[in-house]
Amino acid sequence: MNAQELVQKHKLLECIQCGMCTGSCPVAKKANLNIRRYMREVAALGRLTIHPENELWSCTTCSTCGIRCPKDLDPYEFLIDIRSMAVEGGQIAPTIRDALESIFKNGNPWARIRSKRSEWSQNLNVKHISQGAEMLYYVGCTSAYDPRIQSVAQDLVKCFEKAEINFGVLGDEENCCGSEVYGMGEKGLFEFLVEENMKIFNKYNIKQLVTSCPHGFHAFKNRYNQTNFEPQHHTQFLAKLIDEGKLSLTKEVNKKIIYHDPCFLGKQNGIYEEPRKIIESIPGAELLEFDRSRARSLCCEGGGGRMWVDIPGSRLSETRVIDAVAAGAEILAVACPFCLLTIEDAVKTTGNEGKIQIMDIAELLSLAL
Ligand code: SF4
Ligand code: SF4
Repeated sequence: MNAQELVQKHKLLECIQCGMCTGSCPVAKKANLNIRRYMREVAALGRLTIHPENELWSCTTCSTCGIRCPKDLDPYEFLIDIRSMAVEGGQIAPTIRDALESIFKNGNPWARIRSKRSEWSQNLNVKHISQGAEMLYYVGCTSAYDPRIQSVAQDLVKCFEKAEINFGVLGDEENCCGSEVYGMGEKGLFEFLVEENMKIFNKYNIKQLVTSCPHGFHAFKNRYNQTNFEPQHHTQFLAKLIDEGKLSLTKEVNKKIIYHDPCFLGKQNGIYEEPRKIIESIPGAELLEFDRSRARSLCCEGGGGRMWVDIPGSRLSETRVIDAVAAGAEILAVACPFCLLTIEDAVKTTGNEGKIQIMDIAELLSLAL
């Protein structure tokens, strides 16, 4: 893509240089990322200087810049295209390259082999989608392989079973959704994954898909260009089950719980109410709010490939933990595997172990069943 094409595709001439995008960007100061300057260079000078690695790979694709832009532009989509150009030119951080290679070879970014993908469910009675299941639980790479996040998948299964949902999984046939591949700018690999995944979904005639990862949810909903099924995030699905009286919450969880909106669920897809409804329906639970919540929520720095790129300096997830403890929360609830990992790590690095627990909403809900 050349400068002219970038100008047209991203409507760069409509930019009024107000700086709201850079001003609202959570990593602008830390990584010296000035998205407005990138756009101006291309629009005004017709060229793009490739900036130092940390700048280009620091964006979490949180979409805050797009939400704040008064001209309705999406600066982060422009930045993803610049990443694509960098990837094509071989200018890529080594850790990003390793994650992309693993996705191509193993179907996951964690360098784990495909035949271990269903290990998380070995002690559960989870059937394959082909065995008469009506709904697909798309587990996702991090929930399938990461030992901490596997417990979220296991507790979600407990919720499905309690509500007598006829669900199935793809087992070792499941493949990376490609969300982070897209964000990292490897659009060729992303298209390959879409094709492969749609073949599998069509083979099993998938009409209903629930996933516990907002990144997979976002990709299936907004990047796959498909209408065969309407993906749901597990918080949407669980909130509906509670509404319909299919899940009775009998046990008390007498805790102060603060909810962190994941960027890919909240800002990217406008899902703010369902996770809060679930927490509020748990007997004994008291829902607290961050000052920066909903569309103003602070990014955890886990998206857009940032799970594989460490940018030096204090982390936003650390700010999140400090704010949650100051608000008096005993549990910080999340609804995304990346948020869970980054924020739980921040509990240790900020010395707050024993003061606050980080839990996915599915884990919280299973305590109340
Ligand atoms: S998507 Fe988020 S991190 Fe990336 S440039 Fe926009 S505001 Fe900054
Ligand atoms: S917020 Fe929108 S209009 Fe303002 S500088 Fe950024 S891209 Fe341009």
